[in-house]
Amino acid sequence: MFTLNKFLSASSRYKSLLLGSSRKTRVISGSALVLAVCAFGAAGVAPMAPDADNLPIKSITQELALPHLAEQIAALEAKPQNYISEERVRSGDTLATLLDRLGVDDNEAAAFIKSDPIARSVMQLKAGKRVQAQTDANGELNWLSSTVTAGRNEALTNIVITREGNRLKAAEVPVAMEKRIEMRSGTIRSSLFAATDAAQIPDNIASQIVDMFSTNIDFGSDLRRGDRFNVVYETFWQNGEYVHAGRVLAGEFMNGPATYQSVWFEDPASPQSGGYYGFDGKSLKKAFLKSPLEFSRISSGFSLRKHPISGKWKAHKGVDFAAATGTPIRASGDGVIDFAGTQGGYGNVVVIKHWSKYSTAYAHMSRFAPNMRKGTKVSQGQVIGYVGTTGWSTGPHLHYEFRVNNEARDPMSVDIPNAAPLAAAQMQRFRNVAGEMSHRFALLIPENNNTRLAAK
Ligand SMILES: [Zn+2]
Repeated sequence: MFTLNKFLSASSRYKSLLLGSSRKTRVISGSALVLAVCAFGAAGVAPMAPDADNLPIKSITQELALPHLAEQIAALEAKPQNYISEERVRSGDTLATLLDRLGVDDNEAAAFIKSDPIARSVMQLKAGKRVQAQTDANGELNWLSSTVTAGRNEALTNIVITREGNRLKAAEVPVAMEKRIEMRSGTIRSSLFAATDAAQIPDNIASQIVDMFSTNIDFGSDLRRGDRFNVVYETFWQNGEYVHAGRVLAGEFMNGPATYQSVWFEDPASPQSGGYYGFDGKSLKKAFLKSPLEFSRISSGFSLRKHPISGKWKAHKGVDFAAATGTPIRASGDGVIDFAGTQGGYGNVVVIKHWSKYSTAYAHMSRFAPNMRKGTKVSQGQVIGYVGTTGWSTGPHLHYEFRVNNEARDPMSVDIPNAAPLAAAQMQRFRNVAGEMSHRFALLIPENNNTRLAAK
C-alpha cells in the first residue's frame, strides 16, 4: 500500500541510491522504483470528485498485489537502461579510477579522453571537481560533463563529451555564473592575513583590500592590534559551488583613530573608467602609495611587527623603510622613469617623474626590474626594483624621497590634489551606491563578525 508521501520519500531515496551506487545495486533499486511508480499509478486511478470544494474528502486505499521482483528485473533488462552518476575527483585519481567510480566501462571512451584535445582537460581536473556521466547498462559512455576553469581570469567552460551514433565528440561550452555579494569583517590580532583568513576572506580579496587602502595605510608598519575592517565583494558561483572572488565593491578600515572608506564606482556609460572613491565622491586615484614596499602574505610574515626604521621623515630628507634584501619596490604613483642607474651615496636608484611638479626616488636597490630606463612609463604599484644595500647604506633598506619641484619633502606634509571629482550627473548615482555600501557596513556590527549577512 502506497500513499503519496510514502511514494515521494521512497522515490527520492531510490534516486539517491541510483546516483551513488554500483551498477548491480542500481539495477535492483531501479526496478524497485519502477515498482513504486506502478503502485502509485494504480492508486491514482481512484475516481476524482467533479467539484472537490463541495464534497467531503474521502481517502481511498486499495491493497495491491506486488508483482514478482524477478519479472520486474527481466522487464527492465529487456529495455535499454541509462544511468547517470556524479563523482568528485579525488587526489591520486587516474582517468581509470575516476571512470570506474562513474560506472564507465568503455575502452573506446577512455582512449578518446586521452587523445582528444578538448576531452583531455578532464584529466587535468583538480581534486574536488565534480564530473557527471551517463552510461548504458553495459557501462558504455553516453555522455560525460565537467566544468573547467581556463585562462587567467578563470573563465568557466563546461567540457561535454557526447556520443553521436558510434562516434564520441567533445565540445567546450561557456558557463553562465551567478554573482553574489558577500560582506565580511575582521579584527587585526596578529597580522592582516591572519585576520582575513579568520574571516574566510579569499586571498585575492585580501590583496585588493591592501591595494585600495595603500595610499592611506602602510600595511607594513601602521597596523595596530584591534584595527578593524569591513569589506563588501563579489563572488561567482556555478550550480551552488563557489568558483572565484571578483572585485571589492567597498571597504572600510579602522586604523587606530582613523577610519578610511572606499567604494568602487563606475559610470555605466564608460565602465573602463571605474575606480575607487572616498564616500565623499573624491577619487583616490592620484594619491601616492604610503609605502613603496610591496606588502603581501610572503613579505608580511605572520606576526604584527614594526619596521625598525620605518616610515618616519628623517633629517636626511627621506623616509627609510627597513626590509629584507629582495623585497619588491613599487612605483608610488603613475609616471615616467627619469633616471635608473647608480648615483653616489644613493647606490642603485630609480627616479620617477609624476604629473605636475611631483617626483619620487628609490635608493640602495639591489637590482632593477626589467626595462627600467629613462622614458619608460610606469603605473602606481608596478614593481620597479628590489631592496638592497648599495651606496652609502649600513644595511638593507629602502631610502624613499618624495620631491616637489625637485626638492625632497615629507610626503605626509604635502597635500596632493585628487583626480577630478565626479561630475554632478554621476554624483547622484554615486550617492546611491555609496549609500547602499554604508548601509551594509552599518549591518556589520562587531557582534556579527565573520557571518555572511546578505547575499544576492
Ligand atoms: Zn635614508
